Amino acid sequence: MGAQSRLVTFVCIQRGVSIGADTKSYSTSQEILEYFRAIAKKYELYKYIKLNHMVQSASWDEGEGVWRIKIKNLATGEIVEDWGHIFINGCGILKYVVA
Ligand SMILES: Cc1cc2nc3c(=O)[nH]c(=O)nc-3n(C[C@H](O)[C@H](O)[C@H](O)COP(=O)(O)OP(=O)(O)OC[C@H]3O[C@@H](n4cnc5c(N)ncnc54)[C@H](O)[C@@H]3O)c2cc1C
Repeated sequence: MGAQSRLVTFVCIQRGVSIGADTKSYSTSQEILEYFRAIAKKYELYKYIKLNHMVQSASWDEGEGVWRIKIKNLATGEIVEDWGHIFINGCGILKYVVA
């Protein structure tokens, strides 16, 4: 059967973007992926998104009051350094649980 949301679908619906809610209460992982792609396209977010990049480190710079972030381009191996006022870690705690 594959992955399927355990939240009722209407909880995360954006107006004008379908997530398969017409047919069932719980969306499949494929429908959720298509939904996120549609949102990214609708709001022209792809220009801000870097896929196939891995965050190697993130540290708080007390003096400047910013996050210092090292990111590796997995296609080229290039390491780039960036900074931000806000850093949100979304690396998926369930996927990387250490026993
Ligand atoms: C086996 C299993 C089955 C599940 N089945 C279901 C289900 O059927 N229904 C349900 O509702 N929930 C299910 N869950 C839970 C669901 O998968 C999670 O709640 C959901 O995927 C969490 O989303 P997320 O975006 O926080 O993390 P994830 O979906 O894990 O995404 C995290 C992303 O961060 C990336 N990442 C990690 N480290 C770095 C780094 N250093 N730099 C850049 N990127 C990084 C990873 O490659 C990944 O793409 C399941 C979980 C597991 C483990």
